[in-house]
Amino acid sequence: MARDGQERRTERSRPGGSAVALSAAYDTALLDLDGVVYFAGGAAIPYAVEALGAARDGGMRLAYVTNNALRTPDAVAAHLTELGVPAAPGDVVTSAQAVARLIAEDVPEGSRVLVVGGEGLRVALRERGLVPVESADDEPVAVVQGYGGPEMAWGRFAEAAYAVGRGVPWYASNTDLTIPGARGIGPGNGAAVEVVRIATGGRVVPRVAGKPQPPMHRETVLRTGAERPLVVGDRLDTDIEGAFNGGVDSLLVLTGVTDVATLLAAVPEHRPTYVAADLRGLLVGQPEVEPDGDGGFRCGGWRASVSGDALVLEGTAGSDVLDGVRALCGAAWTWAGAGACGLDAGKALARLGL
Ligand SMILES: [Mg+2]
Repeated sequence: MARDGQERRTERSRPGGSAVALSAAYDTALLDLDGVVYFAGGAAIPYAVEALGAARDGGMRLAYVTNNALRTPDAVAAHLTELGVPAAPGDVVTSAQAVARLIAEDVPEGSRVLVVGGEGLRVALRERGLVPVESADDEPVAVVQGYGGPEMAWGRFAEAAYAVGRGVPWYASNTDLTIPGARGIGPGNGAAVEVVRIATGGRVVPRVAGKPQPPMHRETVLRTGAERPLVVGDRLDTDIEGAFNGGVDSLLVLTGVTDVATLLAAVPEHRPTYVAADLRGLLVGQPEVEPDGDGGFRCGGWRASVSGDALVLEGTAGSDVLDGVRALCGAAWTWAGAGACGLDAGKALARLGL
């Protein structure tokens, strides 16, 4: 089973084990979308539909947590349902909702808020009793920036810069520098925030709600009522770090942006509790990674250790590749301690065919 929060925050030196399926060990899965449930182009990731259906049938609550502030929960839920993952708007939590709550805690109800972003942001502000406005001359008491999509006009950044330059408090839904699309990697809201920051002299920074910041995790727990949540994501510096900051367990799936070499080099706040190839990992337990007392770490049919400046993996042909990854995490993270593992993993990964 997962180790307790205190230990988790101070030393995650190997992945955790679970004797029962993760879908039984946790009451709610807080699922990232891009790279977890669907690809950047919008199509479902293999096994996602079946695995989520089985987890839900087994009694696990499913919630979808996205840093993308452009789309409304209605639009996200409709997309998921179309893919074969039935979802209601109430199952979707966005960084737009998290930043709207943050602003509503700071300003009186009915306040005007300058929106530089999309419909998701406007809907979330109205839900909190705030009034979205479009111009810096509309006397806003706050400025909020969220991803506005490829059609957003350059003049929107100017409105934000005028208001921030006048000293109006500034908020951002999230600061992901990039956003994956069907044709490649494009600039995300973090890049848009940088435009405004540079234009206003570089000294003012916005308050940020999205992953990995605590307001996003708080919003998710408030909306889902999760008591024992499991964060499921593909990105170490948003999903997994967000879980770390929230003091909850996490599952990394290897269907998105993180490869095994990056996982092995993760600093402590980026180390997930569990790792799986894809969402089928929710439906099974997780094997323990055991130190063997001789400097090595065993998992399944594999043993990982350090020799010189390289990670070494020994194992039986046909053993589960993921168990090899877990054993390597034990060796790499223990060697790295509070830092990042700089050992050569090339030969060990080649043994796994990675
Ligand atoms: Mg993702």
